[in-house]
Amino acid sequence: MTLDSKPQPDAIWKAVDIICDAPTLLLMESVWLGTRRFDAFQRITGLMKAVISTRLKKLVAAGVLKKRLYYEKPKRYEYILDEKGAALFPVALMMLRWEQAWNAGPDRISVKLHHRSCGQNMSPICVCGHCSEEVQAIDVTRSLTAHANQGAAGYMKRRRQAGLAKSRSGGTMLFDEISEIFGDRWSTLMLRAAFMGISRYDGFLKETSVSTNILTTRLNWLIEKKLFTKKAYQQNPERFDYKLTSKGLDLYPILLFLLQWGEECFGGGRTPSLTLEHKPCKQALQAIAVCSSCREQLTVESLALADINMEKPNS
Ligand SMILES: [Zn+2]
Ligand SMILES: [Zn+2]
Repeated sequence: MTLDSKPQPDAIWKAVDIICDAPTLLLMESVWLGTRRFDAFQRITGLMKAVISTRLKKLVAAGVLKKRLYYEKPKRYEYILDEKGAALFPVALMMLRWEQAWNAGPDRISVKLHHRSCGQNMSPICVCGHCSEEVQAIDVTRSLTAHANQGAAGYMKRRRQAGLAKSRSGGTMLFDEISEIFGDRWSTLMLRAAFMGISRYDGFLKETSVSTNILTTRLNWLIEKKLFTKKAYQQNPERFDYKLTSKGLDLYPILLFLLQWGEECFGGGRTPSLTLEHKPCKQALQAIAVCSSCREQLTVESLALADINMEKPNS
């Protein structure tokens, strides 16, 4: 790092700051499903007006959504995806995939993703753009540059938002558990740390700069959610290793695309704070989302949601 390159927040922190908030994820989910107008956001998400309004403002300021005038007198605006919002497409796909894989059930929303290009119903998969192999966390090596992890301090005062999704008054949602997990910045950053190979209390503490009481609550919550397991590696005093379960490991593509999104949209063209290498092909990893059936890269235009058995809220 040269002297003139002032330390900047790691792009993942920026991405997490914008997206990892439960009301924001609820709003984004409804945008992805075609909602554009304020009253519809209210009806579908069940969030309070003031909450919707602050989140929409933040998303517009970040370039994720943009306002479009749809009525002249009085002036009315609708919200559509802006450039950075469109670039979140692989993140949304992987969230949808994970939720369908781990939370399927008769009382749950089921969606089929139909790939128009090949005419098949399919599941999105995350592959290396260079060798086309499916990306597994274990096949990715990371190296951090000097300025990584600045920005932690900005999160100290944030309150936990998880649980909000459960208690909201709107209809059933697609990203039920996802919005609980990624709606909480600390949990997201702890998952990220776990994917970096961190498994012990002190390691999480150092990596996330979180306070000890928040750390303990989150570790227990991640175990409760069956994303982490806990195993003693020492007695007197008892110390534990926290490891990702297969359900937790399967969140990797979401974090990977979130990181890529952060670097692409907020990295400002500087050297990425984190460089990833795909071990099987020894190339810098650029992940892409492809169709499980034809292996073509997925685009918004090539995809259709089919068979949504979704409970719509009344009125
Ligand atoms: Zn590769
Ligand atoms: Zn296909």
